[in-house]
Amino acid sequence: STTPRPLIAGNWKMNGLAAALDEARAVAAALEQRPASARVAIFPPSTLLHRLAEAVEGSTVLVGGQDCHPKASGAHTGDISAEMIGDAGGAMVIVGHSERRTDHGETCQQVAAKVEAALAGDLEPVICVGESLEQRQAGEAVSFVVGQLRNSLPDSLQGKAFNVAYEPIWAIGTGHVASVDNIIEMHAAIRAELATRFGEQGRTIPILYGGSVKPENAAEILAAPEVGGALVGGASLKAKDFLAIIQAA
Ligand code: PEP
Repeated sequence: STTPRPLIAGNWKMNGLAAALDEARAVAAALEQRPASARVAIFPPSTLLHRLAEAVEGSTVLVGGQDCHPKASGAHTGDISAEMIGDAGGAMVIVGHSERRTDHGETCQQVAAKVEAALAGDLEPVICVGESLEQRQAGEAVSFVVGQLRNSLPDSLQGKAFNVAYEPIWAIGTGHVASVDNIIEMHAAIRAELATRFGEQGRTIPILYGGSVKPENAAEILAAPEVGGALVGGASLKAKDFLAIIQAA
């Protein structure tokens, strides 16, 4: 099987009012002028999903949700479903981000159920895993992340397009990027687990790195073995920075 293009994913988190649509438009326009070798996706807050999808319509920029409920519809106040994300113009969804796991107590079993919902709603999931600082200091980072991966990925992913994002919690929003050695070690372990679990397909699933990716460090990270893209938080909010990272891929 062929190696997929890297994915550069911008996670806006709970940031972005209507004015932020101009940043997305600027990214789309710049990619028109200078096409990227990477695929590019923006994950705005749900309030902007539909408007952002319209703003970048006809461009190469993909749009996604930051989370989805395991069910397709129903009495779940405040939640949104995979089908709703698709209806708003989204093609992808982030599932299992550490901020969801921490803020909302999401378990791996719940994350796996959300992945199932994403697939049922025809969305390409980006499934996040990553250890805490305590786990890394205890020497448990690799075993923890591999276990998290095992429990967060349903068998129904076989044959479907999906992505894994490795995001060490201590590197998210802190400016403390993981060392390239840490990234290489973890991505190799994730690759081995994916290959064991999904066979030939598991050898090509993009494994994104996330955690304080910036224009200054993107090229080195993206060139590391088994790094198939980046999940970018803070630096995805400004078109100029996000484009610099896209162009480093
Ligand atoms: C993220 O939101 O997934 C992330 C990696 O954030 P930051 O780039 O700001 O560290």
